Order: sequence, then C-alpha cells, then structure tokens
Amino acid sequence: MWFFSSPAIVFGEESLSYVERLAGKRAFIVTDAVVAKLGHAARVQAALQAAGLEVQVFDGVEPDPSIETVRQGAGLMMQFQPDWIVGLGGGSSLDAAKAMWVLYERPDIDPEGINPIETMGLRCKARFLAIPTTSGTGSEATWAMVLTNVGERRKLGLGCREAMPDVAILDPSFVMTLPQRVTADTGMDALTHAIEGYTCQWHNDFSDGLCLKAAQLVFEHLPRAYQNGDDLEARIKMHNAATIAGLGFGNAMASLAHGMGHALGGVFHVPHGRGVSLFLPYTIEFCALGEPGSTRYSDMAHFLNLPCSTEPEAAAKLAAAVRQLQLALDQPRTLAACGIARQDLEREMDLLVLNASNDNQTVTSTRIPNDEEIRRLFEYAFDGKSIDF
Ligand SMILES: [Zn+2]
Repeated sequence: MWFFSSPAIVFGEESLSYVERLAGKRAFIVTDAVVAKLGHAARVQAALQAAGLEVQVFDGVEPDPSIETVRQGAGLMMQFQPDWIVGLGGGSSLDAAKAMWVLYERPDIDPEGINPIETMGLRCKARFLAIPTTSGTGSEATWAMVLTNVGERRKLGLGCREAMPDVAILDPSFVMTLPQRVTADTGMDALTHAIEGYTCQWHNDFSDGLCLKAAQLVFEHLPRAYQNGDDLEARIKMHNAATIAGLGFGNAMASLAHGMGHALGGVFHVPHGRGVSLFLPYTIEFCALGEPGSTRYSDMAHFLNLPCSTEPEAAAKLAAAVRQLQLALDQPRTLAACGIARQDLEREMDLLVLNASNDNQTVTSTRIPNDEEIRRLFEYAFDGKSIDF
C-alpha cells in the first residue's frame, strides 16, 4: 500500500493574498531572526491580522534546529492556543514548525518518537500553513522534518504522514532578495531531491513525472536566478521547482547523497543543500557501478536532453551535468573546497560513516554501500581523485 500526499498549493505572484481566506482565531508564526529582520514575518503577520486572526511570532529557529528549540516553540503554542500554525522560512523553520505542531497536538510524544507508523492525531487543535522563503528544501510539500540532536552531533530524519502542510503558499516575492549563495545552495538541494527521488528504490508512477520536471526546471533556471536575482521568471520557476521536487521525493524518498550530506552536516555544519548536492555526482557514479539494471539514469538523461546510449554513460553524463552546474554556481565540488581539512575528516570519519550508514535515506539507494564503501565515498568526495569501487 502506497500513498501520495500533497498540500493545497497556491503559487505565483500575489499568492500571499490567499491568507485573506483563512478562517481561524489565532495564528502562530514560526520563523528565524533573519526572515523576521527582512520584514517577511511582519508582512505575513499583517496579512493574517487583516484576515481577522490574532498573531504571535516565534523567530527563534536556528539553522539545523534543535530538539530544545522545538520544545520551546511548542510550549509557547500551548499558551497561545493557535488554530493555525504558520511555518515561514527555509527548511529549518518549516521543519521546526512541523515538529512544534506535532508536540502542540501531542504533548505526550517525545520529538525523537515522531514516526510515520503511528497515528498522531494531528489537526485536533490546528492546521498548518507553509510559506517558504527559499527555493529548495521542499519542506512545504513533505511530511518529513530534520531536527538535530546537538549533544550527539546527529541529524534526526523524522516524519509522520499527517504532518503534511494543509496549504503551501509559493509567493515569489519572498525569494526575490535571496542572497546568491543561498540561491545556489537551496537550488542544488531541489535538484538533489529531483534526481534522488527519481532514482531511489522507492520511486513510483506518481512521483516520477514531478522529479523529471523539477530537474529540468532547475537545470534551466537556477543559473539565471543565481546570476541575476531580479530575474522574476527564473525566481518563479525555481520556487515552483523546489516544491515540485519536494512533492516528488517526499512521495518517494531521497537517497545516498542525502544520507551522506546529513552525516556531513551533523558534524561539519555544511549547509544542507551544499552538502547533499556535493555528494550527488559521486553517489550517481557509485550507484551506476551496482547491479546492472538497478538504475534508471538513462530515462532521466533522455528527458534532460543528455545524449547517451547505455546506463553507465547516462550516469556519467548526469554526474557531469551536475558538476557543470556546480561550477556555474561557484559551488564547492569537494569536501576540501568546502574548507574541511583532511585531518578533521579523518578524525571524524568513524562518526560520519556510522551516521551515513544509519541514515534512513541511505537504505533506499539502489546500491547500498557497506561501511568501507561509505568511507571511500567520503575520501573520494574529499579531493575528487578517482577511487576504484
Ligand atoms: Zn534535501
């Protein structure tokens, strides 16, 4: 038995005006200090107030949100009793908001105990509106949430099906001033979702088309959005692409690049999109050497107009296209270029291998690496010098 879930999606210019239609008494906005400083939180607050809702803003979400922050926000929700939770921001704010929502509805649950098996019984108290202010994580269209256990330097991939937002508003005005580096990092995250959603073991008929379209949109529009942030069309296309990729991989799964990127981020705090996309060409190459017939890179390569006749050739073309895009966006293509020293990598290697191996995205790879292979993949990604797998 499989599911396909999606929020109601409102997209395009002026789509924030949709909040005028929300019926409710109190809205609790979850965001971070940067988004608040940019005036986005005040804008959403004003729109909600104009719709007759009382509003409280929590702007304390940090990058890689911790369990402590989630507990704090949920505690404030318990006092304020909102009937709408509004996640406003990048993936960190949206994920933290979802987790706070779960705890608000179910104070008896431990955050680490949020799981897709149990029925959580959400929406007894509130519904969830997601407004992304980056174009990449797709969190507005998934029921997943990544939190960080700070003490153990470990990312927690959590989720429950009910935590799919009720509504996602994709208003490009929130991303027009996105800094260049964030545009690149988050856009590459969207590409990684699209490619991994299409090529992971859990790909399915419903997610495939979304992943293909999202990958095409990113290759076409991310360089433009990066080079000229004022390019409205590129911004709109990237904003849509991120959510489409979110729907695609969220209804399938991500894969090995995410497993490794999560492990890297937990230890070295490399931004999520930069980390996962850095590994993408390496993991494509690794998977292409797995069991013949297990991958489907040629389908994707054909859709992207990358000429190829065999599966290994398609994998090589796709990996090269990703590397070329990284180059166009001035993205680091190796761990060394990320500023990680070899001795630091070696010192942390056991933890990296353990966390990448235990990550729930790693197991849906078409080729699941053993610990030694994960170690070699980290070494390969360190300086890009070819390693025999
Ligand atoms: Zn991601």
